[in-house]
Amino acid sequence: MYLRRVISYVSPIFRVGVARMFLMTNLITPQSRHYICIPPKVSLRKRKPFSFGSSKYKYYSDQSKSCWKCDSSVELHELFCRGCNSIQKLDPNRNYFDLFGVGQTYNVDLKVLHNSFRNLQRLLHPDLFSNKDEEEKKLSEEHSSLVNKAYSTLTHPVRRGLYMLRLKGIDIEEAPINMSQDFLVDIMERNEEVNDLKDVQKIRQLSHVYKNIMLELMEEVKRAFNEEDLEKVKETVAKMKYFSNLEMKLKDLKQELAIVD
Ligand SMILES: [Zn+2]
Repeated sequence: MYLRRVISYVSPIFRVGVARMFLMTNLITPQSRHYICIPPKVSLRKRKPFSFGSSKYKYYSDQSKSCWKCDSSVELHELFCRGCNSIQKLDPNRNYFDLFGVGQTYNVDLKVLHNSFRNLQRLLHPDLFSNKDEEEKKLSEEHSSLVNKAYSTLTHPVRRGLYMLRLKGIDIEEAPINMSQDFLVDIMERNEEVNDLKDVQKIRQLSHVYKNIMLELMEEVKRAFNEEDLEKVKETVAKMKYFSNLEMKLKDLKQELAIVD
């Protein structure tokens, strides 16, 4: 009885407490917490440097260096100095995935990659540097050509595979792997077939066939990278090179004969 009476006194207070805790935990989401805890003035002041050109500075890192022009501290991967706004030197150790701010995976998000590429192009186009000094002009050209090369590498299924292997210290272009005799004979026959093609329907049909073969091989490479089976990656990327050539030949034929899909 005594215990029940104590509970009956305590429980309203307890219930209010629980209700408050519930409200707090539900109302203060990670996003709103920022605004609740930080007075608006402070939060605005903090956000101001990012309110213009945030994309310009976001390419990113935790290490810093000095700006070649004004000696301000610049994060290692930042493209522009926040002090004098000048374009920074290339970081030779930076890989293409980091350059675009995308995850290092064979199954790269091509849409994100494309948006990032467009954004970088907008920031780095040499025309934007026509009024700057020679050093900045030179740097913008270097950056721009690196961005183009990186984009064409990461968007091409074979070049992306070769590049990812190189990041792991494997270069199958310098040290080609041996393909089986059967495979090479098969490829030779396929090439002969494509070289002699004249029939529009057959060209269309084979384009479709090789497109699907490439998609299957891409899936295999993706799986092999995920399983860290680098032998399988090497073998499959090497195969893809042959099929990609066949696909290119068919694309050229379609262009020559003005065949529309
Ligand atoms: Zn500077």
